[in-house]
Formats: sequence, structure tokens, C-alpha cells
Amino acid sequence: MVSSSGKVSVLHEVSTPVTRLVSIVVPIYNEAANLSTLWDRLSAVLKALSCSWEVVFVDDGSSDGSLALLRELAAREPRVKVVELARNFGQHSAILAGFRQSRGDVVVTLDGDLQNPPEEIPRLLEAIEAGNDVVGGWRANRQDHAYRRFASRWHNRLTSLIVGVPMHDYGCMLRAYRRHIVETVVQCDEKAAFIPALAASFAKRVAEIPVAHDQRAAGESKYNLLGLAKLSLNLITGFSLAPVQFVSLLGIFIALIDGAFAGFLILHRLLYGPQQEGALWTLFAVLFLFVGFLFLALGLIGEYVGRIYQEVRHRPTYVVRDVHGGDRDRSEHR
Ligand code: UDP
Ligand code: MG
Repeated sequence: MVSSSGKVSVLHEVSTPVTRLVSIVVPIYNEAANLSTLWDRLSAVLKALSCSWEVVFVDDGSSDGSLALLRELAAREPRVKVVELARNFGQHSAILAGFRQSRGDVVVTLDGDLQNPPEEIPRLLEAIEAGNDVVGGWRANRQDHAYRRFASRWHNRLTSLIVGVPMHDYGCMLRAYRRHIVETVVQCDEKAAFIPALAASFAKRVAEIPVAHDQRAAGESKYNLLGLAKLSLNLITGFSLAPVQFVSLLGIFIALIDGAFAGFLILHRLLYGPQQEGALWTLFAVLFLFVGFLFLALGLIGEYVGRIYQEVRHRPTYVVRDVHGGDRDRSEHR
């Protein structure tokens, strides 16, 4: 599913492979029960690749011994790097931390619970080699609760609309990104980032390929309904001014209605002469409508001012305590 534009450059890029080193970034929050199978399957896939590879595990404040297991792995496998976050910062911040520590020409993200089969990685890389900047997995046969699938359908429609890049599955974290996309996402250092949407918004060529999806191997999903709702709200306010624009349009609409209403009152007065209380009550109703509208507008403006405040005070999105194993040259001192 290569996008139709830029065919000449696609042919050129096919003949010169972009992937000399691939980085796999995996956020880990209390996945101790899954780590050994994950590593067995992932390493088997990576060893069969023709390019070099590294794996960056980001421990997002786990409390179940995941970190100790990851450190053991990093001690025996030099191509494994473990980024230890100071506490739980959330999946997308963890991926951002992993991006910053990665060095690959292509970076692949993967969930740590084996819902995304590592065996799909070569197909993602093929699609990158075909000239795409971002390749998203599309969980055609999604193994989640019905309510998650329903919410996700609407989430994807909304995201496609506000990002301007239509995709079936923004929520699938089995994705591949070229280095320049990763660098741009990292530079943004967004609070409350939604990485697939942010990356898609910087990409020239985006492809989506159907990938398998399994049940969670062990443990429970870290997202509840409130968490998902927060993610959607962040996405809307993070990517579009549509709510504020909607308020402006609503203002124009109300002004037009108000004009028509005033015209009606004038006409009524001309035809039937002055009435007693009728007009007064109607004006009260109009006034209250405006008060409600002003409150709504203030709330929305407040939302955006709040976001500016968050960006301006430059709080770090996450704090890396230490980096274990791998190449330490890129370790951060934030
Ligand atoms: N995750 C994380 N930090 C969090 C929540 C989740 O690093 O605060 C990781 C988690 O360990 C897993 C991936 O993000 O590797 C996806 O999480 P989960 O499977 O709970 O989400 P779901 O599949 O239900 O969307
Ligand atoms: Mg999962």
C-alpha cells in the first residue's frame, strides 16, 4: 500500500536499502511474566534479519521485577539497552524516551505484552524499504473487548480527520518510523504526546499494512476507560483548533439568529404596536443564551492557555534515571 505520489523516488530508494541498523523500542510497565517469551520470539526474528539491530527497552516505573529481568538481559546481550524511567510516565512518554536513546536508521515500536507479534517486523521493514516514512500496523483481527474496538473505530476516524492523514488504526503500536521522523518527534518533546498521530503529521509517505493481533499473553491492560478518554482529549486539543473554531462559528450563527430575532421584534412592533411583557422575557432568554455561550468560550480558551502554560514552563516529559548496557554515549543529562 505505497502511496501513489513520488513513484520515481520510490524506485530509487528500493535499490539502496535505508535500513542498516534497526532499533526496536519496547515500553515495559509490569510485564515481567511476558519478558522471557517476548525476548525469545523477538531475538529469533532479529537474528534472521540481514541488517544490524538493537533493542531499547524502556522500563516505565515497573514494580514487578521487570527492571531486574531487563538489566540481566542487557548484561548478557550488548545489543540490548534498558532505559529506566524514574517513575511511571505513561506509554507514549516511555516510547519518546526510547526514541531518544535509539540510533537506528529505522525505529520499530512494539508492545511488551505480545499482542503485537514480533514476527511481523520484517514486513514493516519491507514497507519502509518501499519508500515510506511511516508504516503502521493495522489490527484487522483485533483481539480486544468489544467496547475497546467500538471506541477505537471512532477514535481512528477522529484522528484521521484532525491529523489529515487517514489511517484505519492509529492505536496499533506495531509501527516503523524512519530516523528523520523519529528525530522530529523527539524534538517536539510534547507533553501528552500521541506518537502515531504526531509521526504521521510529519511524514510524506505513510503506509498501513494488516498485522496479526493476539490476546495479551499475561497480565492486564494498563488502560481503563478514563485513561482512553484522556488520550482522546489530549489528541483533540493537541492537534487541532477545531473546538475554538467551532465556538467562533457558533458565535456567528448565534449573531445571525439574534439579528433575525431583532428583525422579527421590529416588524412585530410596526405591525401590532408595543406589547407589554412579552418582548422583555424573550430578551432575557436571549441574554441567558449569551451568558452560557460566553462560559463555554471561556472554558475552551482556558484549555488552550493551560496547554501554553504547560509548554512554556519546560517541565521534562519524563526523567531518565540511568541507562543500562548498550551504547552509553547518548545517555541523557536532563
Ligand atoms: N505501558 C507503559 N506504560 C504505561 C502503560 C503501558 O509502558 O503507563 C506499556 C505496556 O507495558 C505495554 C504497552 O505499553 O508494553 C501497551 O500497554 P497495554 O497492553 O496495557 O495497552 P493495551 O494493549 O490494552 O492498549
Ligand atoms: Mg496490550
